[in-house]
Amino acid sequence: MTVTYESAIGRYEPVFGLETHVELGTRTKMFCGCGTTFGAEPNSQTCPVCLGLPGSLPVVNRRAIEYTIKIGLALNCSIASWCRFARKNYFYPDMPKNFQISQYDEPLCVDGYLDVAVGGKTVRVGIERVHLEEDTGKSLHVGGATGRIQGAEYSLVDYNRAGIPLVEIVTKPVPGTGFLAPEGAKAYVTELRDVLRTLGVSDVRMEEGSLRCDVNTSISPRGSGSWGTRTETKNVNSLRSVERSVRSEIARQAEVLDGGGRVIQETRHFHEDTGVTTSGRSKEEAQDYRYFPEPDLVPVAPDEEWVKAIAATLPELPSARRARLIESWSLSELEFEALRNAGALDVVEATIAAGASPADARKWWLSELARRANDMGIEVSELPITPAEVARVAELVAAGTLNDRLARQVIEGVLDEEGTPDEVVAARGLAVVSDDSALLTAIDEAIAANPDVVARIRSGRVQAVGVLVGAVMKATGGKADAARVRQLIMDRLS
Ligand SMILES: [Zn+2]
Repeated sequence: MTVTYESAIGRYEPVFGLETHVELGTRTKMFCGCGTTFGAEPNSQTCPVCLGLPGSLPVVNRRAIEYTIKIGLALNCSIASWCRFARKNYFYPDMPKNFQISQYDEPLCVDGYLDVAVGGKTVRVGIERVHLEEDTGKSLHVGGATGRIQGAEYSLVDYNRAGIPLVEIVTKPVPGTGFLAPEGAKAYVTELRDVLRTLGVSDVRMEEGSLRCDVNTSISPRGSGSWGTRTETKNVNSLRSVERSVRSEIARQAEVLDGGGRVIQETRHFHEDTGVTTSGRSKEEAQDYRYFPEPDLVPVAPDEEWVKAIAATLPELPSARRARLIESWSLSELEFEALRNAGALDVVEATIAAGASPADARKWWLSELARRANDMGIEVSELPITPAEVARVAELVAAGTLNDRLARQVIEGVLDEEGTPDEVVAARGLAVVSDDSALLTAIDEAIAANPDVVARIRSGRVQAVGVLVGAVMKATGGKADAARVRQLIMDRLS
């Protein structure tokens, strides 16, 4: 590609949109009692219903309806008081019935929004619909180099996933984000994932496919006032890929338009290794699927009382939590983002609850502990130190028992499983030397060893005292309170 993203975005205005599929974390499937455990022996979680055998009849999973209503409410949608499932007809080997039970013109939730922070601003992403359907099985193509069906010797089909409840969340087109469009698409999926995780309706593991995104992108010449033809990039399976696929698709479409061509409405595949999309198939129209109301299921009619009861169980959502924490911890948006991106919100909140100040809690989790977690390749929350222990270290620093340098050693000891902070202080002998007489011995030695420095201080160049403080800190193995040492030296020399 010769057109760069930067050059493309200067001349074209992008619009993006997302269709996100989320596997619900229900214990059983959407229309039968089969289990939903990830990674189980192939075809061990199947029955006549999810295998589509003749004569079997589906029954709606009430918990899946409840979860979908929860999602709809969290995304500020209206909840339908009456809706039906529909058959979406198409043939594919991983779909044993030759149709998918989905929702078409009567989705369970419609017309909501999700507010997303992008580049320090809030972008309101409109939600077109949230509907419920069943997932398909999984094909495994064996014998080829690429894992695709081309060149494979044979294919295997695993129907364990067929019939797992799948929610599809479709945004309205999102215009107006300009240069930040790729970041905006990623921020939306990140926020949505946080919402779903907070609701407890899915494990939202992109790497296991329980959260999957199709990303729509279009561009039009700046100032043209119209929108271009969109393409749909399928199954983008990481947050980073959401951003990269929008970026790459904007540059590719710009190159097509620059050359006098036109963008074709089609599905495209994103390639992790090269960071570009390639053509898939031309996009089907809704009529190709011959949708019709599913005759084997009664309509779903959630009554108002039930919806109210579900609304009453909603936990504090990420946006409300962000507003609360920014206010109560006196943070800027960027400071909040840093904490969230470090995965440190929960541990910092717990550390503050255990008695540390917000500033101390942030300081330790974002510096020393973030560094250690990074070295170990784990999340900060997985470190072998509890928020209460971090709060105790902060308390020991505030009380003057530890300075920052010693506190780092205490944390290191706790992480190495030498015990609690107090046990590490005792075992390693890390407490600050607060006994002035012990310090004065070291101070007198430093003064005697550095007559030239003493002369400079006495002639008014007070900053030279740093040399003497350094010598005393060295002599005490870093266990002195530097401010106290400075004071004692100045008293000695006055
Ligand atoms: Zn089944």
